Amino acid sequence: MATSERIAGELGCWPHLGYVGSRLDRASERRAETPDMLRDTRALACLVAGESVVLRRLPGTTGDDEAGGFEALIDLGRAVALGGRVSEACLLGLADGVPHFVLPLHAASLAALAEAPDLRVTDLRSVAVGEWVSAEELGELATAKAMIAWHARRTFCSNCAHRLHVAEGGWRRECPECGAQHFPRTDPVVIMLTHDGDNCLLGRSPRFAPGMWSCLAGFVEPGETFEEAVRRETMEEAGIRTGAVRYVASQPWPFPMSVMIGTHAQALSREITIDANELEAARWFSRKEAKLLLTRTHPDGLIAPPRMAIAHHLIRAFVEGRDPPAG
Ligand SMILES: [Zn+2]
Repeated sequence: MATSERIAGELGCWPHLGYVGSRLDRASERRAETPDMLRDTRALACLVAGESVVLRRLPGTTGDDEAGGFEALIDLGRAVALGGRVSEACLLGLADGVPHFVLPLHAASLAALAEAPDLRVTDLRSVAVGEWVSAEELGELATAKAMIAWHARRTFCSNCAHRLHVAEGGWRRECPECGAQHFPRTDPVVIMLTHDGDNCLLGRSPRFAPGMWSCLAGFVEPGETFEEAVRRETMEEAGIRTGAVRYVASQPWPFPMSVMIGTHAQALSREITIDANELEAARWFSRKEAKLLLTRTHPDGLIAPPRMAIAHHLIRAFVEGRDPPAG
């Protein structure tokens, strides 16, 4: 059985949903031991530079698009030799006692790495869509990319503008001037499949691939419940009133550091008025038509997002008329 199915079975979540398969012990109580763990000869590390990640081609694989044909975690020593900045290492956690880290890399180093025959420099979205690494590593990469993104944005104290020190294996930044402590943050985004009987509401952002339709989504604002954010965003983007909102599942979304809160929402109106600043179109799809989007057999070439995305599974749960697995 493929890793993704095995993990989904154990955790009761959707197979192939991206970024959810990490089995690491985050070992938060041991983060202060990071300097010692960096001397562990068994330690592994992944490399992240902005939107790019570095993968190692597994022996015996040749194609650039081979599912499971790559690994993201390599020997820490090699990661450092490739340019990973060990002084800014973040401890991702422990797997069977072996520490896993992420090291940031200068973007200028990437061109040289891309020339190495056993390496591939790519973006995390493509890694997830192609399932190029194991589900476990994909989950670790989500943490890794989000952590590097946070550090890149939190060099200086937002209280007094002094340069910050890194502490707790990368999970805290401290200000030596004013004493403020800064912690990694995750921005909540609601994503909703709004439905009305046998129909569901999907939209198209100008950023989407041609023919792709997906769930509406938006950031939760301060002082808002998830349910309120679902109702506000659906009204703002499509002019549709919604009532009952049901939480379905969540997904880390490290672009740069969000978590998607997946819901189903009951529509209370039908007339669509789009916000042209957010969407280029929105329309109702019948259950039958939505199924064609999932299977990519729609006569007009319309498609749903790939199965690594929670939107795919929110649509699928509606199409199949069943409750999704408990997350
Ligand atoms: Zn400060």
